[in-house]
Amino acid sequence: MNLLDSKNPTPAVLKRPDHHISRGDISEPALKVLYRLKDADFQAYLVGGGVRDLLLGREPKDFDVVTDARPEQVRSLFRNCRLIGRRFRLAHVRFGREIIEVATFRASPNSDSGSAGPTLGEHGRIIRDNAFGTIEQDALRRDFTINSLYYDINDFSVVDYVDAMDDLRRGVLRIIGDPLTRFREDPVRMLRAVRFAAKLGFRIEADTQAAMFELVDLVKSVPAARLYDEVSKLFHGGSAVETFALLRHYGLFSRLFPATETALAKEEQGFPITFVSHALRNTDDRINSGKHVTPAFLYAVLLWEPVRHRMKYYLRGDKGETEALQNAGRDVIADQLRHTSIPKRFNVTMREIWFLQSRFRFKSGKRPQRFVTHPRFRAAYDFLCLRAEAGEDLQDDCRWWTEYQASTVKTATVMSKTTGGSGARRYRRRSTGAGTNIGDR
Ligand code: ATP
Ligand code: MG
Repeated sequence: MNLLDSKNPTPAVLKRPDHHISRGDISEPALKVLYRLKDADFQAYLVGGGVRDLLLGREPKDFDVVTDARPEQVRSLFRNCRLIGRRFRLAHVRFGREIIEVATFRASPNSDSGSAGPTLGEHGRIIRDNAFGTIEQDALRRDFTINSLYYDINDFSVVDYVDAMDDLRRGVLRIIGDPLTRFREDPVRMLRAVRFAAKLGFRIEADTQAAMFELVDLVKSVPAARLYDEVSKLFHGGSAVETFALLRHYGLFSRLFPATETALAKEEQGFPITFVSHALRNTDDRINSGKHVTPAFLYAVLLWEPVRHRMKYYLRGDKGETEALQNAGRDVIADQLRHTSIPKRFNVTMREIWFLQSRFRFKSGKRPQRFVTHPRFRAAYDFLCLRAEAGEDLQDDCRWWTEYQASTVKTATVMSKTTGGSGARRYRRRSTGAGTNIGDR
């Protein structure tokens, strides 16, 4: 059945005793928003990832609320509220660090409501989606069935218009409605499919998959700024390793990072793939143990191989290593910006991580002491050790700097004295072309 064709679908309703979502699982701020809307006689539901994750026994990342109140009406109910988004106008209600996103029911593209529905552009892409509708319409214009479950604050039931509970139980990710139409409306849904499949360990349903293979190229038409946001969510959700494998499987990765994919495809078992895999495993570990991650490091990793390739080109000319690295970095970033944007501050940090790699050779005198106080030292050091782990001939450097940081001031001085000259000697040897250096691979 094409759900988008059904005029008035009757929902399945799971009453309070038939599911295990309790109000205790929902954040205070989300409950406040739900109750304030309800008390003002609006409909109010928790929807999306919050309901999905609670039903799966997982901790939700955030809570999304949906209502029949218009954005302006929502704003008038909350002091701490601002309206955002042009393409998709909604309210953000802030409570300290937590933001509750409050959307108004939207009409689906071929709904019969008399409202215009979303504005479609080239390839059937949704440009603006601000035609308000009913909950039935709202349920059908959501992306995947499992993301279209509504928790009703009125009677604590879960309302299901799209047979989502079946998919949730069976671990299936299925796009709502006709897959080709829905991916054309918004190609980012293909990236979302991969993100949820990886995070939840769900399998993507056959017709949904087939449409992804067919329309993968449309990802290139998505604005670079939106792709930057999606890339961050894809790789910083705690399942980067699985996400990366799926992105490559569906051909999506090459649309996001074409230069990286070309470099990886050349050497399927070699250093490049090992390096990226190690780094992503490391990212997952950090996120899953509550540590900080930065997009600058992620991009530094993903673009490292293209940078090294490009460096070779400059090294063949008359450029020294530093200049070659600088030029290569500049070229690779300029090229990547055509696909995903990268905010300037991360762009700067990413270059620093690369350029600092050559400073690890200098272990004598006062240089190590100065270097460890550099604001990017830690990121550059992590990057160096990842390179070593992935098989570059840098194990000794990684070990030396690990010990140096762990040592007391006294031992550190001895270390930099006894290594005296070796950094400089090695540097000379390397820069004549022997040994492994940054541009070697
Ligand atoms: P999480 O917050 O855990 O990443 P989520 O499912 O809540 O996952 P959000 O991006 O917060 O994802 O979006 C909230 C809900 O809005 C989704 O569950 C889905 O119902 C709907 N939605 C988001 N993006 C789209 C889209 N591109 N097309 C259709 N529906 C969407
Ligand atoms: Mg969410």
